Amino acid sequence: MAYYGQFWGTSDAAGIPAPFCACPVCEEARREGGRSVRLRSCFRLSDEIMLDLGADAVTQSMRFGCLKDVEHLLITHTHEDHLNAHMFMQLVWDKGSRGKTLHCYLTDKAMEIIDAWRTTPWILKGALLDFERRGLVEFHQLQFGQRVQVGECMVTPFRGNHPGNVGELSGMYLVELPDGRRLFYGLDSGPWFEESIAALAGCHIDVFITEACLGTSDIRHPNHMSLQDAYEQVCRLVEQGTLDSSSTVYLTHINHGTSHKEMVSAVERMGFPVPTVVAYDGLKTLSCDSQE
Ligand SMILES: [Zn+2]
Ligand SMILES: [Zn+2]
Ligand SMILES: [Zn+2]
Repeated sequence: MAYYGQFWGTSDAAGIPAPFCACPVCEEARREGGRSVRLRSCFRLSDEIMLDLGADAVTQSMRFGCLKDVEHLLITHTHEDHLNAHMFMQLVWDKGSRGKTLHCYLTDKAMEIIDAWRTTPWILKGALLDFERRGLVEFHQLQFGQRVQVGECMVTPFRGNHPGNVGELSGMYLVELPDGRRLFYGLDSGPWFEESIAALAGCHIDVFITEACLGTSDIRHPNHMSLQDAYEQVCRLVEQGTLDSSSTVYLTHINHGTSHKEMVSAVERMGFPVPTVVAYDGLKTLSCDSQE
């Protein structure tokens, strides 16, 4: 199995250009395209494993590839830019036509949204219960700090500082690949809870994906990070050995306050203590040679 760790989307809930916005960043994205354009955050670890499935999944699939081989779907939280009911049902339906089960993982209280989907007639005519009965989809409730097997990988969710639609806290995922490399996908979190930082002490991460939602803005938001917050977070993790010069940091979930070019020059100016990359849609974080 090849692990390529590709960003399928790198924006916040609005996207860039945001549909109702004519700010300079959105106008530049409309003019220039390329890395200036960001779809909503989503990550494809491998053909089998996907993190989040938002409303842009159709467009993302057109750009980056077919979703038919997805077997495991890890959900960070229940906000619509990360979990879209229509796209989810379409994926389950499609798996069903091939006689396979889709395994979907949510942390802790986030599972309550599935209870709501089971009982509402407004989402695909209330088909979810029938899909489950037919074995097309299986839900797994994960507990923070509990390490579980997902496909060939071991996955541990950490508590993020960001409340979702059903009052849950977001899940940030540590993924241990079969070749021993570790990837961390932690977005939709403000500055981390101390327990999440402490839990990574002594754990070296190779690919560290964090958010920098508020870009170069001075705003300190309780549930999202600016570039400055991300910088401070990275420094904390360097101090405790979680990150070092052999790690790579990727910044994602970026809002339309800061353009891609401005992000890149701000990161250069700030001098992050480990190699740091401003993510863009389509960027791959892992070389594909392992486990082939
Ligand atoms: Zn989000
Ligand atoms: Zn804008
Ligand atoms: Zn969110």
